[in-house]
Amino acid sequence: MNDRQPRPIQRVVALSGGVGGAKMALGLQHVLPPGELTVIVNTGDDFEHLGLAISPDLDTALYTLAGLANPETGWGRRAETWTFMQAMQDLGGETWFRLGDGDLALHVERTRRLKMAASLTEITADLAQRLGIPAQLLPMTDAPVRTRVTTDIGELDFQDYFVRRQCQPRVAALRFAGADAAAPTPQVCAALTDPALEAIILCPSNPYLSIDPILALPGVRELLRASGAPVIAISPLVGGAAVKGPTAKIMTELGISVSPRAVAQHYGELLDGFVLDARDAASENQLTALGLPTLVTDTLMKTLDDRIRLARAVLDYARTLGNHQEKQP
Ligand code: GDP
Repeated sequence: MNDRQPRPIQRVVALSGGVGGAKMALGLQHVLPPGELTVIVNTGDDFEHLGLAISPDLDTALYTLAGLANPETGWGRRAETWTFMQAMQDLGGETWFRLGDGDLALHVERTRRLKMAASLTEITADLAQRLGIPAQLLPMTDAPVRTRVTTDIGELDFQDYFVRRQCQPRVAALRFAGADAAAPTPQVCAALTDPALEAIILCPSNPYLSIDPILALPGVRELLRASGAPVIAISPLVGGAAVKGPTAKIMTELGISVSPRAVAQHYGELLDGFVLDARDAASENQLTALGLPTLVTDTLMKTLDDRIRLARAVLDYARTLGNHQEKQP
């Protein structure tokens, strides 16, 4: 390498939900040296089902980073079998939340360890290591936080809204029950205050359902603002629409325009940079008018190569934004 070339960025924290975030995290994991990536994952989607502790976003991240994710569904494991679900159906049990046989083992084992008083952070670290994941995977908190969705048919538990009712009810408001009292873990705080940290990436996840619960934990916004590392959000919109899931539907229902600008404004003063898709390049002016530095690039991650290319582009961009101490509020 040419000596005068700046050293590539090494230490990165990514904030992530499930599918979109995990794809970005996988790209980053490929590009960064082992141990240098920390992924902080939303646990607002967690719930108890059939007596099991289920953490859907954490599981998507775990399976994706381990190379075990099911590429067709976007959730669960690849090459899964469904004997358990079939038997449940035959017995008249609950089948609205699909649990494959291999996936089931994860929930049973996590539940067993939680009952023995291990923390979600400890359990996740051990499972990630067993599955050969080189990144540090962290639940945002070990305390219960539960996303509740106020809709036209009343307030719903998140999985009731998301899976059972397939996001059909009209959303009027979202709240993260328990977030006020849920401390981010010491590991989350350590990752965000690490002096060697070079970039904080808000993955292209649902800003309202996946990133907001993390930002709702006491102190997290302040840690992002106080970090010398640039905070960069990747737009979850491609061509003015969500790639998958209810992001655009929820934005419309909440009276927010479905645009990269609205996503950037939602994160507001936290951001030092914003990455928008080339298909939305016409919006770039609106972002620069907000005084926000932007990168326009192809953000659609269909293949592993796409994920790696986007990760490289985002890290190169982060380097141009530089490190700065104590941002102004
Ligand atoms: P969930 O928790 O499983 O719903 O997943 P996330 O919140 O992490 O991701 C959902 C968001 O990811 C949606 O808004 C999608 O538009 C976005 N998304 C999914 N795939 C991609 C992609 O390849 N590129 C970009 N830019 N966004 C994506």
